[in-house]
Amino acid sequence: MKSNRYKILVVEDEPNINEFVCTLLEAGGYQVVPALSGSSAMLLYNSHRPDLIILDLGLPDMDGLNVLRYVRESSLTPIIVLSARDGEMDKVEALNMGANDYVTKPFGSEEFLARVRTALRVASHRSENGMFPGGRFETDGLVIDYDARSVSVDGQQIKLTQTEYNIVALLSEHVGKMLTYDFIIHEIWGYNDTGSIKKLQVNMANIRRKLGDKPGKKNYIVNELGVGYRM
Ligand code: CA
Repeated sequence: MKSNRYKILVVEDEPNINEFVCTLLEAGGYQVVPALSGSSAMLLYNSHRPDLIILDLGLPDMDGLNVLRYVRESSLTPIIVLSARDGEMDKVEALNMGANDYVTKPFGSEEFLARVRTALRVASHRSENGMFPGGRFETDGLVIDYDARSVSVDGQQIKLTQTEYNIVALLSEHVGKMLTYDFIIHEIWGYNDTGSIKKLQVNMANIRRKLGDKPGKKNYIVNELGVGYRM
């Protein structure tokens, strides 16, 4: 058994931000390995095999996306992208390349630590149960029975169309991860045309209404405008 202190690789070239993130994580009980460039990040990734990577996209020696690509060639180690860019395209590109989540700078400590916990929890859930949890998914009153293809909330059966069910099942299989519109559309319909996003939004609005989601409440499915959905 390895030590139960998770090891986190922090890739950020601005020393004060790197130090801030490391201090925050250490205070949260994590072990940290700081890297100030893309090339040192790759070396440290290989020698330390961290449980999670915090990855800045704007690095001095290379684009952070190269580090992301490099890690994804060999592992599913969770990666949270740190980005000063508020461009949606960068977030979408990073998520499509396999990042688990992103945090836009500047960020609050509490939110940041919550994202870290989620990414680690999802990763350990996957390694214990395999990529696709067998049989049943349960969270806060929401139950999905994969064999029966049925969904219930607080014991009440929810009537979903086949497409709606497929979307809910897909989100649950990637619980905690922000899925981009493109990814969902490709997984559900297999193709992408100009009407796809509208079609997805209509289905999603129906799903959220049926699950009893309300604006401003703690909901099962979160929508980040222009990016995607997360369960
Ligand atoms: Ca930077």
